[in-house]
Parts: sequence; C-alpha cells; structure tokens
Amino acid sequence: MARVFNFAAGPSALPESVLAECAAEMLDYHGCGMSVLEMSHRSSSYQQIFDDAEATLRRIANIPSNYRVLFLQGGATLQFAGIPMNLMVSGRAGYLVTGNFAAKAEREARKYGEVDVLATSEYTGFDRIPEVAGVGELAEATGYDYVYICQNNTIFGTQYHELPQTGEVPLVSDVSSCFLAEPIDVTRYGLVYAGAQKNAGCAGVTVVIVRDDLIENGPALPCCPTYLDYREQAEKGSMLNTPNTFGIYLCGKVYHWIEAAGGLAAMERMNREKSGLIYDYLDQSHLFHGHAQPASRSIANVTFRTGDERLDAAFVDGATQRGLVGVKGHRLVGGMRASVYNAVPIEGVRALVDYMAEFEDEHT
Ligand code: PMP
Repeated sequence: MARVFNFAAGPSALPESVLAECAAEMLDYHGCGMSVLEMSHRSSSYQQIFDDAEATLRRIANIPSNYRVLFLQGGATLQFAGIPMNLMVSGRAGYLVTGNFAAKAEREARKYGEVDVLATSEYTGFDRIPEVAGVGELAEATGYDYVYICQNNTIFGTQYHELPQTGEVPLVSDVSSCFLAEPIDVTRYGLVYAGAQKNAGCAGVTVVIVRDDLIENGPALPCCPTYLDYREQAEKGSMLNTPNTFGIYLCGKVYHWIEAAGGLAAMERMNREKSGLIYDYLDQSHLFHGHAQPASRSIANVTFRTGDERLDAAFVDGATQRGLVGVKGHRLVGGMRASVYNAVPIEGVRALVDYMAEFEDEHT
C-alpha cells in the first residue's frame, strides 16, 4: 500500500487510524451483523453512534450547553441561505467579504433581506483580512440581525487571527476550513458552522452550532424550508429526516482521534508548526511568493506561486510524481496551495519544503 501525502483543500486527508477502524468495522459493526451504512437511523445502535459523536465534539470544542449542535446535509453552501432565513428577524445583516465563499454567502443572503458589505479585501486580491475596528459600534447602531464572516478563506489562504467585536449583535462565522484546527471560543459567536470535509470528518456533513436564544422562535422567514429550520432540527436531534449516517459516524471517529492526540491545543501546535515550515521557506525564497499578507496568513491553507504559470505547472507535476498531491492552487488565485489540515503529517510538509528547495535550485 502506498499512501500519498494529500494537501487537497477538501475533501482532504483523514487520519489513517480512522480509516482503518472504519474498514475493520465495515462488515459487522460491534456485533450488530451489519455495516453502519446499512443501519436504521432510528435504531438504538445508531443513536449511540450519533450521541457519542455529538458528546465528543462538545468535549473537544468546549461547546456550552446553551448551544445546539446540528449535523446537517447540503454542505456549507446550503447554510448561506439557512442563516438569513433563520436569523434575519429585522431583515438586515452586515457581511465582511474576504474571499469567494464570503462573497457567495453575501450574494445568497441578498435574496432574503438587506445586506451591507462592511469591509472587503477584494481590491487587493483577497490577500488579507481587512481592518474591522468599529464594526461592533456600526452593527449595534444599525441594528443588524448578525454580522457574518468567513473565518478562514480556503482559496486565498487568509484567516482572522482576531475576531471582530460585534457587541450585542451575534457574530456568525463560516469556519469550514479552520474548524477543529485550533481551540475555539464558541461563546464569541451566535452561530458557527462548518462543512466537515476538511478537519471535522467528511463531505456530506455540515456542523452548525447555534445559540439557543437565536432559534427559540423558529425561522425569521416563513418561507424557510422545514429542513433548514434550526429550531425544528434541534428539536428532532438532527433527525428530521434521514441524516448522513455514515458521515456522522466518521466524524465521531475523527473527534475521538483529535481528543486522543491532545485536543485542539495540540492540533493548533501542529498546524502552526506545519504551516510555519512553509511560510519560513517562502519568506527567504527568491522563487516562490506567498499570496497572503503575513499578518493574515492561514494556518490551514498556504497559498504561493512562482509568478510564472509554466513553472507553477511544472512544480505541481513534479510534486505529484513524488506523492505530494493536491497542491494545485484554486483557479481564482492560480499557483499552488498546500492545505495542511490536522491529518496531514509533518513528514509530508517536510517533504514538500524539501521539494520546493530542490525545485528552486533547479530553476534559479
Ligand atoms: N466555506 C468555505 C470556507 C469553504 O472552504 C467551502 C468549500 N471548500 C465552502 C464554504 C463550501 O462548502 P460546501 O462545498 O460544503 O458547500
């Protein structure tokens, strides 16, 4: 068996031990005589798997009891609509646009209410997190239902290192590509959500963590589909309909893996070390240049390029031949992107940096 080092942005690398456990349990889950894939979501065996996944996530992310945890489908993208439909009570929200996914969320929200763009870094190619001082005062004075951010911008490789202060106005954050990569203070948010296909499990599961009081009256908009009604989903334990049973099972295993490896503080240490190896190389390189401004650098997605598309393509090809896969940048940025999520081992990052040095020697 030859496993590659997978730097893909999502779906992405999973811990080998998690995959091996899934394989071992595939035909007969704990003496049930069937796979989790074949199990009724209403069975007690499955309910235990589900409850354990939620309880483990609550422990590792320190989620307070006044927050509900939902395991939904439809990707992070469906929540671009779910959020305004549930939370736009007075019909107005502020969005900070720091990349493609924040822009998509902002455009989707415009279908449901009035949206103000409070800041954007579009004019510098989304290479930074814009200045957000004063957002709280503005949000309170305007009476926004929420302020929305995308906390880690997967495509551009930028990340908020400090959250905007939004006062009494709930902060809503898309943490798809930084969820469980570092400790999270859930109390700073009204709602935080993530597609699980990066650090938190696999594609097909979206975790939504929402403060009780924001959903107690049901969705702000009567047109909200029942599936996206957070109150209804919370009341039904995310089993309003058939959930992604296998995906949630796998998420639970990933949460256990994180816990056994030392929790989110340990994840952060490893992720800073891994991304730091690449950033240190970039900072002294005469060939490769980072896309993100240093103060806005992501610890999950490292974006860089040579400035010559043919060289970038040659680098990506060479990397693939060495078993370093998934380093082609998103078409919106070009160049390269190395996603160094929790399950990407440091040996893989060292091999990538060694290859960068070799490539630079050859081409300068
Ligand atoms: N937000 C962020 C930050 C993402 O990285 C992605 C996808 N990579 C999305 C939203 C969209 O997620 P999905 O494909 O799960 O809808």
